[in-house]
Amino acid sequence: MGTEVGSQLSESLIDELRKERASLWRILFEQSRDGIVVLKVDGSVFEANQEFARMLGYSIEEIRQMRVWEWDVHFSKTQILEKLAKIGDPGEQLETRKSRKDGSVIDVELSNSATVFEGKKLIFCICRDITQRKLLEAEIFRYATTDNLTGLFNRRSFDQRLTEEMDLTMRYGSPMALVMYDFDGFKDINDAHGHVQGDKVLEQSARLVRDNVRSTDMVVRWGGEEFMILVPQARLVTAKVLAEKLRQVLEEYVFSARFHVTASFGVTEYVPGESKDTLLKRVDDALYRAKARGRNRVEVLSS
Ligand code: GH3
Ligand code: MG
Ligand code: MG
Repeated sequence: MGTEVGSQLSESLIDELRKERASLWRILFEQSRDGIVVLKVDGSVFEANQEFARMLGYSIEEIRQMRVWEWDVHFSKTQILEKLAKIGDPGEQLETRKSRKDGSVIDVELSNSATVFEGKKLIFCICRDITQRKLLEAEIFRYATTDNLTGLFNRRSFDQRLTEEMDLTMRYGSPMALVMYDFDGFKDINDAHGHVQGDKVLEQSARLVRDNVRSTDMVVRWGGEEFMILVPQARLVTAKVLAEKLRQVLEEYVFSARFHVTASFGVTEYVPGESKDTLLKRVDDALYRAKARGRNRVEVLSS
């Protein structure tokens, strides 16, 4: 009899503890500073916390009526259903983009894991807004890969792309050419109009050149007033035509301070197997020849 009372007591105590624990988890869930959504494998919402609803700009009631693909703008419905079905023990971390009720889009980092609750598989997603971090990353990437004044690619980006294009040429035999140009008498332009106007010429000419090449061509600020263009899928003849077009475009353009400038161009083609150094030396030699032969002209050097 005594043991019966004892076991009843302990059972109600355990029940009490269980309830207490459940309410503790509930509080943690509600108050989490990360968005949390619990999903069913069909993409519907089992439960969501306040922060998740706030992140997407909906009320919790609205979120409960929604399916994942109504807010996820990165993955398709099919991809989402596949992911939900596949996710298992170790869970997964991924980045995606979500659209908010007001139509704006945020970057989020998800930490997903699967669990079984009352015989059904549920997916537990912790969701963090990383929009600001993404913007910062993009900004840092831009600083690291481009030139501040002109917005063109820098030499570091060029070097990376050149390696890739050389590999492609070696593997598939696709041609690649380089065009290098340098403004004529730029010291005099600075002297006559001032360094600020000189900078404007560099900025405006960069835009002009970029508008006159293909999006797959890479325009690079090589140094001071020297520029390089990597022209993929192009032989010498094509690159020469491009250089001649750019030479004319620059010659005819009236810069904002109402003066004209000209540039000299060197052109060469990559020979599969040769080193970067020999290729770059040859395009530089071609440019030097254009200067020596009178400037405002295009010179071509083949191996
Ligand atoms: P050429 O090329 O025809 O031989 O004559 P150049 O006078 O252009 O000679 P060079 O190419 O050797 O000199 C480049 C000049 O460009 C020197 C420098 O004052 C100027 N320069 C280099 N970088 C910049 C820049 O970022 N802004 C401005 N305004 N001037 C620059
Ligand atoms: Mg010059
Ligand atoms: Mg120069």
